[in-house]
Amino acid sequence: MRIQIDSIDDRGREVRAGLGEAWAVRAADQALEATPEALSATLLFVRKGPAIFVTGKLEARFVRPCDRCAQGVVVSLSHDVDLKYAPEQGGTGEIELAEGDLDVGTFTGDALDLGDVLSEGLALALPTRYLCADTAACDARTTALFASSDAGATASSPFAALAGLVRDA
Ligand SMILES: [Zn+2]
Repeated sequence: MRIQIDSIDDRGREVRAGLGEAWAVRAADQALEATPEALSATLLFVRKGPAIFVTGKLEARFVRPCDRCAQGVVVSLSHDVDLKYAPEQGGTGEIELAEGDLDVGTFTGDALDLGDVLSEGLALALPTRYLCADTAACDARTTALFASSDAGATASSPFAALAGLVRDA
């Protein structure tokens, strides 16, 4: 899904998307590395000179495995979007980027890809780690995981088999 730059003016153009929009679900899937269970995007695109400013709200709910115990963790994101896009350098509408504008995205041609904007907004909202809310239960599961993998290693160890042979001899 692309939005024509020409269709955006300084009063802005609002785009809403959710689970009903295939392009939005695809973009969320990519950014979250999980299928969204809930998704709501309200984005306002405003044109200032050659640049496009995007503000609004992104909300998503999805399940990811815990980084420690691998149990599914329900993650709810609610993120205020504040993104800037400028035409790629060398284009006709080239603008001078001010210091601190390193986070400005670029677009080529006469349209902005809405999926890219959504992915970028969600990516900025992601937590650095996924962990169970219940730390005690997570600890117990993690300990059990280590215990079972240790037991598995011993049983399949060639030395264990050898020890059995020696004992039998
Ligand atoms: Zn956990």
